Amino acid sequence: MRTLVTGGAGFLGSHLCERLLKDGHEVVCLDNYFSGKRSNIAHLRNHRNFELIRHDIVEPILLEVDRIFHLACPASPVHYQYNPVKTIKTSVMGTINMLGLAKRVRARILLTSTSEVYGDPEQHPQTESYWGHVNPIGVRACYDEGKRVAETLMMDYHRQNKVDIRIVRIFNTYGPRMAINDGRVVSNFCVSALKGEDLEVFGDGKQTRSFAYVDDIIEALVRMMAQEEHIGPVNIGNPVELTILELASLAIEFAGSSSKLKMMPPRPDDPVRRKPDISLAKRVLNWEPRIPLSEGLRKTIDHMRAELGLIRT
Ligand code: NAD
Ligand code: UDP
Repeated sequence: MRTLVTGGAGFLGSHLCERLLKDGHEVVCLDNYFSGKRSNIAHLRNHRNFELIRHDIVEPILLEVDRIFHLACPASPVHYQYNPVKTIKTSVMGTINMLGLAKRVRARILLTSTSEVYGDPEQHPQTESYWGHVNPIGVRACYDEGKRVAETLMMDYHRQNKVDIRIVRIFNTYGPRMAINDGRVVSNFCVSALKGEDLEVFGDGKQTRSFAYVDDIIEALVRMMAQEEHIGPVNIGNPVELTILELASLAIEFAGSSSKLKMMPPRPDDPVRRKPDISLAKRVLNWEPRIPLSEGLRKTIDHMRAELGLIRT
């Protein structure tokens, strides 16, 4: 199987490339290095089944592949809001280009959509049938609406051109190889706790998220691509919900830190509650997350300690 991973040098993409190589795929990793890094895939470069292409998916590309895992898109609010117009182009034009490629070479294509399509949800937990509550003109819209259009494009290429599609909606995921300057809450809290700096909490910290460890999510992506029964969308994430304040306490405890919290103004349109209903994933993929936050967070902190060049005390 010749498999393209767009966004392959990113956090999830690099873990996925690794897993696919282990499973015996020929892997073509495509990235423009906007939020990904060469070092994430440096250890794969000499693998005989690995190929790396520097390319921006806003531009078309022709490749001979059987499967496309389409991940390319900045995922951290800090990154996707840095150049919002580019974020929309990546989601919309990039997905059109990847769907055009899938159509031409008859490849199966999987889109990594996001829980952000639910916006600031009025239904809790979120099921796939919920249409969401997104502010179309807010600062998160470049990502949320971009992904919503990407999902629409997937469905329309499927209905109109019979492209073989899969859509997953990923909820907050963390783990080793999240960039230390990624800007998402887990990396921010781990890095600050390790450095003994204040952990910045936006708003009152009572907003919730549900955090899945990267290995669990990669397993779900592989299963979603392999199964024949369901095109999606399917939620994948860990349904254990906690407040941002609770996450901050865990990060401080596991890092063995004496950091304090620094309360900051809330971020605009920050969703108040988020937790996936994963009944569909359990049924269709026979999948549920296995790695508890206590274990995953410790592994992530160990990785970040090494990245920061700190020694365990
Ligand atoms: P990431 O930022 O680490 O990875 C994204 C990768 O895409 C980066 O390597 C980046 O350089 C690349 N990229 C961005 N724009 C590109 C372009 N125009 N052309 C080519 N490459 C481009 O983020 P991630 O956490 O690994 O997320 C991967 C995918 O999963 C994204 O589609 C994201 O929306 C989705 N997702 C992630 C999470 C999460 O919590 N990690 C949650 C929901 C959805
Ligand atoms: N957050 C925070 N401090 C940080 C980064 C994020 O309090 O340094 C909060 C943020 O306001 C949000 C939650 O943590 O409520 C998750 O933020 P993240 O950027 O990781 O992802 P989101 O789920 O918002 O896309």
